[in-house]
Amino acid sequence: MSAVYPLREAGPGSNAPRRLREEFPIVTAHPELAYLDSAATSQKPRAVLDAVQTYLTTSNANAGRGTYPWANRTTEVVERARQRVKEFLGDPDPARSSVHFTSGTTEGLRTVARDWLVPLLTDGDEILVPFADHRANLEPWLEARRLLAERGTDIRVRALPYQTASGDYDHRALADAVTPRTRFVAVTHVHHVYGGDMNVHRIRAAVGPHVPVCLDAAQSVGHLPVDVGDPGLDVDFVVFSGHKAMALPGTGAVWARDTRGPALRPGGWQGTPNTVGIVSLLAALDWLDEAGPERIARHAVGLATRLTDRLRHLDAYEILGCPTSLAAGTPLPESQRRQGIVTFRHRGIPSDDLGFILFSHGFMVRADSLCQAGADPTEGAVRVSLHVYNTEEEIDRLLDVLESLA
Ligand code: PMP
Repeated sequence: MSAVYPLREAGPGSNAPRRLREEFPIVTAHPELAYLDSAATSQKPRAVLDAVQTYLTTSNANAGRGTYPWANRTTEVVERARQRVKEFLGDPDPARSSVHFTSGTTEGLRTVARDWLVPLLTDGDEILVPFADHRANLEPWLEARRLLAERGTDIRVRALPYQTASGDYDHRALADAVTPRTRFVAVTHVHHVYGGDMNVHRIRAAVGPHVPVCLDAAQSVGHLPVDVGDPGLDVDFVVFSGHKAMALPGTGAVWARDTRGPALRPGGWQGTPNTVGIVSLLAALDWLDEAGPERIARHAVGLATRLTDRLRHLDAYEILGCPTSLAAGTPLPESQRRQGIVTFRHRGIPSDDLGFILFSHGFMVRADSLCQAGADPTEGAVRVSLHVYNTEEEIDRLLDVLESLA
């Protein structure tokens, strides 16, 4: 590991985020641009790029298939990455859990649905799933119902209830939606449109001790601490995208606790794994741990707060989800705490036009219907998603442009 970022000990108010920003070559090479689309994919620090380069120029081979040194080293690195994922997630019982590499959250959730859930369910069983989160966390569960129906097994898919104003789950109504036939619940950690922490620490109490819970952690792993050893995060699957957590495109993983129900064993022939992606994930998790997920979250939440605090006073804009900036730590237990994502609309300018206007000023944002399940594809929004390489100056410049359009 490089010694370029011994920053964990730096206190609040230090210049740590600025130093971390300097570790992202694509960011520092383009000071005229502001990358504000990290919820789609993150930029990669030099340590990850170096690890990829080193692997490809010293050890590139297939994993689990050869007996010569490059192949053995590749097999070893894949196994090390598996253990690293467990460690990164604070796994309290790594001897029982399992980690499966995927291309991202979409494939991870599909794996849980097809290879774990479908064989488990019988006629009359129920599953509770989110109909207003990312499509990746709805379609696999609907597909599971279809696959079962083809085999003559009818299950019921119930919708997780939401509190409409904030976009958070309605945890009280959720408890009422659980029945003795509930076999599975799928939830999201941080909403990819509203940016709110979905208060998943309240899920276990609502669903009871025995129902397996699958967490879509696409917007939390790499952005904030995710600790499955914390009793408040008593979930059975953590599914995430490595590419949103500093690793290469085409990487992701499923962590499975493997204690409620059978162990996850992805079925069928697995083929060659994305070895270079897995190498990048290993380096990315090292980098994230070194930088400190708490510091990263504090930085992104601080920027999101700066943005919402000014934006909500501009009448031309509507902020989606919770309109105020409920920063992490706000003592409002019933509220969503906004993470590093702010999504909004201009009341007079269509969102795709606003996206183009913002890019003409150097801001790279997402401007469409954001892959939200059930969203009207003609009604887009602009999403600003922040990471450790973003700065207050970028937010202030963005706000100046937004204000000039108000
Ligand atoms: N879930 C959420 C909450 C997401 O934000 C995303 C990506 N935008 C996904 C799932 C899908 O991730 P991937 O594209 O890596 O499969």
